[in-house]
Amino acid sequence: MPDATPENPARRLAGIETEIAQACKVARRSRDAIALIAVSKTRTANEIRPLIEAGHRRFGENRVQEAATKWPGLRAACADIELHLIGQLQSNKAEEAVALFDCIHSLDRMSLIEALSKAMAKAGKRVPCFVQVNIGEEEQKGGCAIADLPTLLAAAHAGGIEIIGLMCIPPADVEPAPYFALLAELAARHGLSQLSMGMSDDFTTAIMLGATHIRVGTALFGPRPVG
Ligand SMILES: *Cc1c(COP(=O)(O)O)cnc(C)c1O
Repeated sequence: MPDATPENPARRLAGIETEIAQACKVARRSRDAIALIAVSKTRTANEIRPLIEAGHRRFGENRVQEAATKWPGLRAACADIELHLIGQLQSNKAEEAVALFDCIHSLDRMSLIEALSKAMAKAGKRVPCFVQVNIGEEEQKGGCAIADLPTLLAAAHAGGIEIIGLMCIPPADVEPAPYFALLAELAARHGLSQLSMGMSDDFTTAIMLGATHIRVGTALFGPRPVG
């Protein structure tokens, strides 16, 4: 992991860019094929601003409420920010999520498809979504069961929601490559071209296996405060 001195996120960004470039070279992929999402959950606007000043524009948050307090202000100062929702979404926050975010990575159930479909129609705004898959079939983990994926995709389509790809968070503390490979296979099977996978510890592996969106927090901002 790159040097995590909190005072220099721009330097850490450069370090991550180097790692991405190396992985792209090995995988014979173009750097342009990978979107780096800076995961700014728990970080203050003051911590985020240096990355914006360094030219970074793509950010991820996991809570609607937290994003609503930080991002309208940051966006007022920088028009071309792209904001991704990467955390679980409650149906009653669908309208707010549609208003705030440019992309949603956590669509994982029927009730949320209904809520998002309504919210998008009401707002007159179509927010592209990833379907989150519970790729390790873990109890208590977000994401739809692999077996439910076809039904969910059909329902999203019927509801007018644009599904651009699949997202996963593999089980902790085991080799993630087989899970990334499985997600890629599921996406290919359903004709989906985008893959949101890979975090601070495993984004180079994810790039080798086809990730188009990597979600990196700790390696950019340093360790998150506990609690
Ligand atoms: C927090 C989070 C990340 C970033 O994790 P790091 O290990 O800090 O890079 C990525 N994806 C999701 C869904 C997260 O909640």
